[in-house]
Amino acid sequence: MSAGSPTTTTWSPSSEPRGSPDGRPVLQGRIGPLAGDRAARRTGRGGGGDDKLAVLRSILAREEEGGYRDRAVIGGLDRFLSMQAELLGSRLGEIEPYSPLTADQRRRWASDLVARLEAAGVPGEPASRPARQRAQSSARAPARPKGPPGSIERLRIAGGIAQYLPRLERLGIETIDDALRHFPHRHSDFSQISAISQLMHGAEHTVVARVKEASEVRRGGRGTSTEAVLVDDTGSVRVTWFGRGYLARSLRPGAEIVVSGTVRTFKGRHMFESPEYEVITGQEELIHTGRLVPVYPTTEGLPQRAIRRIVRAALKAGLGRVAETLPADVREREGLMGLAEAISQLHYPDDAARKKAAQRRLAFDEMLMLVLAVRSRRIRWQAEAGRAPALPRGGGRGLTDAFLSSLPFELTGAQRRVMVEVGRDLARPQPMVRLLQGDVGSGKTVVALVALLLAVDAGRRGALMAPTEILAEQHFATVCRLLASGPGRIEPDGAVARIEVGERGSVSVALLTGGARRSVRDRVTRAIAGGEIDIAVGTHALIQESVSIPDLAVGVVDEQHRFGVMQRAALGETDERPHILAMSATPIPRSLSLTVFGDLDVSVLDEIPPGRKPVRTRLVANEQRQEAYDFVRGQVERGRQAFMVFPLVEGSEAVQARAATEEHERLSKEVFPELRLGLLHGRMGTRDKESVLERFAAGELDVLVSTSVIEVGIDFPNATVMVIDGADRFGLAQLHQFRGRVGRGEHQSYCLLLTDSGRPGAEERLRVMEKVSDGFALAEEDLRIRGPGDYLGTRQSGLPDLKVASIFDTVTAAMARREADRLLESDPGLRSPEHAALGRRLGEVLGASVGAGG
Ligand code: ADP
Ligand code: MG
Repeated sequence: MSAGSPTTTTWSPSSEPRGSPDGRPVLQGRIGPLAGDRAARRTGRGGGGDDKLAVLRSILAREEEGGYRDRAVIGGLDRFLSMQAELLGSRLGEIEPYSPLTADQRRRWASDLVARLEAAGVPGEPASRPARQRAQSSARAPARPKGPPGSIERLRIAGGIAQYLPRLERLGIETIDDALRHFPHRHSDFSQISAISQLMHGAEHTVVARVKEASEVRRGGRGTSTEAVLVDDTGSVRVTWFGRGYLARSLRPGAEIVVSGTVRTFKGRHMFESPEYEVITGQEELIHTGRLVPVYPTTEGLPQRAIRRIVRAALKAGLGRVAETLPADVREREGLMGLAEAISQLHYPDDAARKKAAQRRLAFDEMLMLVLAVRSRRIRWQAEAGRAPALPRGGGRGLTDAFLSSLPFELTGAQRRVMVEVGRDLARPQPMVRLLQGDVGSGKTVVALVALLLAVDAGRRGALMAPTEILAEQHFATVCRLLASGPGRIEPDGAVARIEVGERGSVSVALLTGGARRSVRDRVTRAIAGGEIDIAVGTHALIQESVSIPDLAVGVVDEQHRFGVMQRAALGETDERPHILAMSATPIPRSLSLTVFGDLDVSVLDEIPPGRKPVRTRLVANEQRQEAYDFVRGQVERGRQAFMVFPLVEGSEAVQARAATEEHERLSKEVFPELRLGLLHGRMGTRDKESVLERFAAGELDVLVSTSVIEVGIDFPNATVMVIDGADRFGLAQLHQFRGRVGRGEHQSYCLLLTDSGRPGAEERLRVMEKVSDGFALAEEDLRIRGPGDYLGTRQSGLPDLKVASIFDTVTAAMARREADRLLESDPGLRSPEHAALGRRLGEVLGASVGAGG
């Protein structure tokens, strides 16, 4: 921590501060060396340190005028503060260092300090007005940080909260409530106090001691450090805080302090290096030492000490307003701690047992909300939906049977079983809400198509919605291909195809994506609205307001487990609702589906069509990438094709697109000058994407360089190599999706994972890919490694996230399911007064997820 950079101060370490023989910093410029006295005289105060406070007040005024460049006082503000540490500390509380802050942060720091000065009875400087008026006006002028009630800005902590606001926002903490819910990811156990004589090298200890001496020292280049000697009745120990010279000013001799950390030995003597510490004031509880101390997830520029103080202040300010959400009988039955107590104990547990009880309570809350969300969404959907058209098998036009008998392959047992499950749902007049899970290549599309055809057979319509344009286009192509696998004709009409299915007549299929030309989009939209289209395939463009799908009876949502989306598509004039089939290509781990989706209708395709050879997967170290390139070349020479997935780069899709473009360039010029390379990324226009994929399908390209847009669904049987560059940046489930792009034809296929060996743990994780080809097993592994966020995050599932609960905690999950049943049975709308809090929270969760679904 330097006392200001040379550009912001006239003082530098090599020169003595100007204008002050004893080396004390002085005010610079117009204020001059005597400003302190003058200011003190002017305010009519003196003694008790008020004059010093007044000096500080005027320095701050200069700082403001000077644009917060740390020029108001020679030597910089930090140096000034450290000279007055004792006085300022006792009057104003802990003051954070000023020089490292940005101009904006400095402004807030200063205005906070001004406010604290005012609170301490030190008015502003302007000379010509009476003191009283001055005090009032300056209390108004440097705006006290304020915000709406409950906002984090309202918290008062020593040193001021203002400087931390941007970082807190980065952590998602904008309200006092957010801070209460910002739980530590672990605790350091500093609850056992040791005597200094008991310290052992290498062990963690906490000691309560007195400061014998403390000084700020400068060693080498990087700022100053604090060196102190602490004593208790049994001995003394040396402590160094590196880079934190400013601490010395708050450690006056005789002060009581607690330090916690690992004991080191230096020249045969025990010492602490940068331990956690806390000066005992007698007024405040310990929060950094001497107890179970929370360690919070945090971000750069927000030290643990600061975040602890902030959360502590939030507990003080907000805990009293935390209302219990669980009915008393639920708490009693399950033996759960009260909410406010649990929150408090999870931050600052009295002991390990209370911490566990707090965790249990909060985990239960999260699980309960999850289960309630899943169940009530379904109940609501089915209740509101009222009736769905019953779509009996074998009825109407008989297209389904014609289609099935025309398939060039045998259905797998799993496909047959799932078709029966789906068929049974569709035959009923209640809307189906079913999740179809299946590993890559398990043949979900055929099942989905059967569901859609059952709608068409009954004279109704179906829609198939994909998350990306590329995938929607692929689905369109696949549906056309599958339908035409018997004797039949495709009459492509741009985005509309009419396909003869056996002798049963024709099915019309349309593709609607946002990226299509306007004229095409308009034409397709009209055709859909006019009832000319039996099966509409598309992206979210399908559910825009301008699009209406008359007589929609079956909606298939691909690659995500969102139900709300299709629901809205169908909110038309009739009370009839479509059946929904949600397909998930990312297998949901068994543990997760048991815990969360345990009561949902789930169909699983747990069988891969016969004849598929598992994709051979190998890790290739970065240094051997040439071998990977040679391998690609060899396969191309045999007439095969390859995908090369470009490493995930941080940043927007545009950044990714640019990186992929450069990589494509490099590979084309330097690595594969003799091969035909194509490029695919998310920023390309629909027609460019289409044309690349068409050329790849037609064998006009040997290698397709792609960003992760290729992750899902794409189906090219002649592609046999998948090279994933920077494989360690992807999750296992995602790698499995990439890998699933090959091995879809008759040829043996390969997946090469290029990795930077540098990342710790990466290799071990990727080795799993070599051994395991079952997507469910991988997903389970992935979930274990990366946590449930990716699976349960609101982004993916529209479900509340788990912060405290573990998805593997089947005991709590069972508890939550049990209580959710009781609750919904006795009060389905959660409307009674004792359920109102839960009901409100549930409303928020469900509301948010419907919003996110669009
Ligand atoms: P996914 O579950 O990954 O979406 P798809 O439905 O895209 O799988 O099917 C992958 C490929 O397997 C397609 O080319 C499809 O035609 C083919 N397929 C589907 N079912 C079978 C089966 N029972 N036997 C052989 N091939 C099948
Ligand atoms: Mg698919």
